[in-house]
Amino acid sequence: MVVFREPVDVPRARPAVRPACVDLDLTLVDGWILQGADGVIVDIGVTDGTLLGWTTADLVSDTAQSMLHPGDREIATKVRDRVRVEGGSQTLHLRARAKNGRWVWVETVFHPAPLPDGRLGERTCVTVRDVSDRYLGHEVMSLLVDLRQTVAAATTARSAWQRTLSLVSQLVPFDTAVAWEDTSSGIAATEEWVRHPDPEPRCPRCLDALRSEVRAAWGDPLPRRVALPAHRCIGRTALPSTLLVKVLGADGTAAVVEFVGSQVDDTSSAVQLVGEAFGQIGDALRRKHTETELALARRRFELAFTEASIGMALVAPDGGFVDANDALCKLLGRTRDEIREVGFQAVTHPDDLEADVAYVNRMLAGETGTYQLEKRYLRPNGEVVWGLLSVSLVRDDAGNPLHFISQIQDITPHKEAERQLQQSVARFRAAFDDSALGMALVPLDGDGRGLIIEANDQMRRIFGCDHLVGVAVDRLVEIDESVFTSDDLLALTPEAPAIRVEVKAAATEEECWLRLVAAPVRLEDEEHGRFVVLQVEDITDERRVQAEVTHLALHDSLTGLPNRVLMMDRIERAQERSERTGHHFGVLFVDLDNFKDVNDTFGHGHGDGLLVSVADRLRGGLRPNDSAARLGGDEFVVMCEDLSTDVELAKRELAAIADRLHDRLAPPIVFQGDELFVSASVGSHVSYGLREPVRAVVSNADTAMYQAKSRGRSRTEVYDAAVRARAAERLTVAKELRAAVSSDQFHVAYQPIVDLADDRPVAAEALLRWTHPELGSVSPADFIPVAEESGLIVEIGQYVLERVCAVLAGSNSPPGYLTVNVSARQLSQSDFVSRVMTALEVWGVDANRLALELTESVLVEASTSSHRQLAELRDAGLRIGIDDFGTGYATLRAVRDLPVTFLKIDRSFIAGLTTDDDDLTISKAVIGLADALGLDTVAEGVETREQADLLRELGCPHAQGYFFGRPAPFDTPASC
Ligand code: C2E
Ligand code: CA
Ligand code: CA
Repeated sequence: MVVFREPVDVPRARPAVRPACVDLDLTLVDGWILQGADGVIVDIGVTDGTLLGWTTADLVSDTAQSMLHPGDREIATKVRDRVRVEGGSQTLHLRARAKNGRWVWVETVFHPAPLPDGRLGERTCVTVRDVSDRYLGHEVMSLLVDLRQTVAAATTARSAWQRTLSLVSQLVPFDTAVAWEDTSSGIAATEEWVRHPDPEPRCPRCLDALRSEVRAAWGDPLPRRVALPAHRCIGRTALPSTLLVKVLGADGTAAVVEFVGSQVDDTSSAVQLVGEAFGQIGDALRRKHTETELALARRRFELAFTEASIGMALVAPDGGFVDANDALCKLLGRTRDEIREVGFQAVTHPDDLEADVAYVNRMLAGETGTYQLEKRYLRPNGEVVWGLLSVSLVRDDAGNPLHFISQIQDITPHKEAERQLQQSVARFRAAFDDSALGMALVPLDGDGRGLIIEANDQMRRIFGCDHLVGVAVDRLVEIDESVFTSDDLLALTPEAPAIRVEVKAAATEEECWLRLVAAPVRLEDEEHGRFVVLQVEDITDERRVQAEVTHLALHDSLTGLPNRVLMMDRIERAQERSERTGHHFGVLFVDLDNFKDVNDTFGHGHGDGLLVSVADRLRGGLRPNDSAARLGGDEFVVMCEDLSTDVELAKRELAAIADRLHDRLAPPIVFQGDELFVSASVGSHVSYGLREPVRAVVSNADTAMYQAKSRGRSRTEVYDAAVRARAAERLTVAKELRAAVSSDQFHVAYQPIVDLADDRPVAAEALLRWTHPELGSVSPADFIPVAEESGLIVEIGQYVLERVCAVLAGSNSPPGYLTVNVSARQLSQSDFVSRVMTALEVWGVDANRLALELTESVLVEASTSSHRQLAELRDAGLRIGIDDFGTGYATLRAVRDLPVTFLKIDRSFIAGLTTDDDDLTISKAVIGLADALGLDTVAEGVETREQADLLRELGCPHAQGYFFGRPAPFDTPASC
């Protein structure tokens, strides 16, 4: 609260200074002025050393007029002249300028003053007394009136301030006045009034200091003199005399006005006057301020209303539109006039009317001040638009509803987007809920990390569980750490590829296999957190079928044993294990002996039955980690792991297993009442680690098996690399042979057979010759077995037969007959007879000029149908002979029963004939046997005269050998 000094009239002690010329009571005056007729001050007397601040020196010789307020000068001059001329004294209240620049009300008494010579009419003496205190009330009143008018006339707070400050400047001699107000950004200088416009801005440091002073002044009793800190000013120099005066409003300080100027003095009555005036205009200013704001707000509202892009309307309490802006007209598809004719009810979609009316009623009832509603509007053409309606109610001073202010925002596009979004969400929801796959969402962040937050029906069905929310994935599936862990799931990043695993469902009654795909979800907004979508598919049936298919693909359907493919795979794994453990592993290649006979004799049913039994016996003879497979036909493979790390010991262990297999196969197999005997030739091969390709492991055992076959069957042979090498050689030979057949590299040589009685040739043996383009001449001993194995012998044999027939048909054919070697394969051809007969017929050769030779073993092993064919040929006139006789096991009885006409004593016996008694004995026996059976005999390989002579002695009719002639080409004019 500001306390102003009341104007008081207290007599002061007066000094006794008086003008010499006038006898005056000077006790109550501040001073006197003696002036001439022209107003020039002649003398001056002061009580306190100064008069209104002026010293005598300041004033003497100046005119008294200049001290006066211009408005008072005329009256003052008139009164002075009257008193001077007419005498008497007169009192006058005038405004005089104090030295500090302010106007001060003074009570002047004009007296006539005589010249030194006593003459009147020239001079006057004026006593001066400061009575400004008395005038404060008036000043304040008039100032207030002025200010009130000023404030009322001003249209803005700014102009109110400007005019107020300019009015006040008349009373207070300041240079600058600044209004500080409490604005939204704190206490700030809002207006400045400058008496002498100064181009320079105020010093920022002074301003800072001032601002804090003003802030402090806000609550202080005022006026307050501010002493700014001494500093080097930047910009306008701060004046030393700064005074803060408060403007009071009804609710406290409204503003603080800062006066700056050298004349500003807080004790001066004018300042107090200003303070008082301000105290009373604060409210007016504040109101002005608010009114200005209101006017602005109204203007803004009007602008906003008409120009707004949002629909706006004034609506009467009954719902009728009072006014609508352009945006609303556009929204509703009506003109402003059309809108004014209807109420909001008419433009509201019937379905939304009830809600809207309910709100309106609540508002009218005063239950709510505003409401917001999303509703549909109808356009005259029936179109529906969506609006977001915001309504507020304006009431008059008495509280009666005046009108509603409605804002309607066109949200049709949002609604449409929302509808589409909802549809899209619904579609996705349905896709999720109704998916044939089990689906679940698992967050990767937050408290529920790793726990299911949503799961669809299929997911619940798969796990037979109604509540999956909150369940961790690793509780639903059996985690096989080698496949996938729940940590893998939680470590998924949006960039990571999906996890695809096959896992077993945990805690389901029946075994249930699942395909689980865990894919990270890429949400654009990271704030929504990261998720994983789980897709789960029940693949139990699929796996079962797959397992069956795999089983079928990997097993032999007859015996149920693994097939070649699976065995190869197992061997590969065994190799890897062997590599790791250092243990050897072994393969037994098992080939049944004479299996063909079972088929031929008993039929294929028995053959199959035998194979099944053999499979069972093999299986039963194995150690737990060994395995047996059927490669096809009558071939089986047994694989044995964990044999010794020592190769020799390993070979022995494998041999023991082979022996056991032989033993198990030995007892007869009874099938459908028939006793079947079976034996097997077994090739055994021990291997280690990855040193050999899988195929080589098996084929080495195979090679050993052939070895076992050729060494008499029903036995085991261990693989020998040298045997393998021969086999490899054979392979290349087979390839070359094929080429030889087509490119005419064969020819036939003939070796004479002589009659020992006179050593004359009676026949010749046709021997095939192969001249390889690079290898040169290749021995039949090398290529015939290969041709035999590959089946090429049939073609080659046919060639020889044709050549021989061609030679026999030639005009200079050799004497007698020609003998041709026939292999087992040729003989087993069902059309063998017709081939031979056709060749004879085609060349027109007599059957008795052709002989056929077959080795003892071929003949013994040949089927009965082959024997029949030979018999047929023999009966047709051909000679049939047993070649290499004595090397096989033909019994006497067999020789008698075979359809043959001659025997050829194997050259191994002839070689030792003259030196080895055994050979002599055998040769004698053969010659005797042939003779007894009525068969012809040919001794082979006769190389010396001694041999020939001895044979002749022994009664051997014919002989063949280098002694009589080497095989040589026969010049034949005819070609085939
Ligand atoms: P093989 O039927 O026992 O033929 C006789 C073999 O003994 C011939 O060998 C012949 O050159 C050889 N030889 C003849 N005299 C002597 C002798 O005084 N001392 C010695 N050490 N050897 C003698 P080659 O020509 O190498 O034929 C070998 C085998 O090849 C034949 O044995 C025969 O089994 C087979 N062969 C030859 N040509 C044919 C053919 O056209 N068809 C078939 N299936 N096999 C044939
Ligand atoms: Ca022969
Ligand atoms: Ca022979």
